[in-house]
Amino acid sequence: MEKSLPVAERPRRPEWMKVRAPSVNSRYFEVKGLLRQGGLHTICEEARCPNIGECWGRGTATFQILGDTCTRACRYCDVHSGKPDSPPDPLEPLRLAQAAAQMGLSHVVVTSVDRDDVPDRGAGHYAATIRALQRKLPESTVEILTPDFLDIEEEALATVLAARPDVFGHNIETVRRLHARMRGAKASYDKALWLLRRVKELAVYRVMTKSGIIVGLGETNDEVVDTMRDLRAHDVDVVTIGQYLQPTPKHAEIDRWVHPEEFRWFREQGEALGFGSVFSGPLVRSSYRADEQRHAVETGRGAVAY
Ligand code: SF4
Repeated sequence: MEKSLPVAERPRRPEWMKVRAPSVNSRYFEVKGLLRQGGLHTICEEARCPNIGECWGRGTATFQILGDTCTRACRYCDVHSGKPDSPPDPLEPLRLAQAAAQMGLSHVVVTSVDRDDVPDRGAGHYAATIRALQRKLPESTVEILTPDFLDIEEEALATVLAARPDVFGHNIETVRRLHARMRGAKASYDKALWLLRRVKELAVYRVMTKSGIIVGLGETNDEVVDTMRDLRAHDVDVVTIGQYLQPTPKHAEIDRWVHPEEFRWFREQGEALGFGSVFSGPLVRSSYRADEQRHAVETGRGAVAY
């Protein structure tokens, strides 16, 4: 069993990880009100994302569908884990689309908990959400960040892709060596890669694929580049790289604080590998400024480091 470092020996949060509190002049409280009114969950809150003040302040958020209880228990993730007590809410897609419209989103990002307990793993609910958004916001683009659809991958991908999301994200999360330890036996590094490639093969329209890597879990910088190389080999368009933050003492410890210069180096390596966009920085998350990530690919602007 891993031993915890004594508090005095734990690495302190460096200056570059500090975030600002939401400003009263921002849209933070308006967004919060709309989410509460719609009875909606966001990964921003569930994962205690450090960017919430900035993102909500800009009037954006990442919706989390399929409830607030995840059937997996990854060692780095703070989303509540357990046995969900209810099936997917059939009215959630409509409420979500209504909130997205009220927020005036031009690019809507939707993710979910894993629902290994439901027969279609939530694929139908994803499709219904995408369609509800397309009906309500026909000018907007839709990005999804999905689970791995355990054991029914092919069927689930067909269901989701039939609804034509503009961006299909699936996070690899960590390097090959740490994958099983961090994500558990149900997930697999190779399956994540396969899923991302299969999205491109099955889509009958132009879809952008995207994946995210968390650093500070014990990987080396070379392993991060190896992971980017694997993602490019599976035709992934966008990669995001950001610093791990330990949500509670029960979660995996932070192995290191990756310096902004190292994030810059990752960005250069990713650019050289040919990604359409590389978002690399201490506070980058897969949904961080997702509208800009997509725009960077569309306009050929390429890599960005924060
Ligand atoms: S980075 Fe993503 S999860 Fe974090 S606050 Fe922004 S939109 Fe939410």
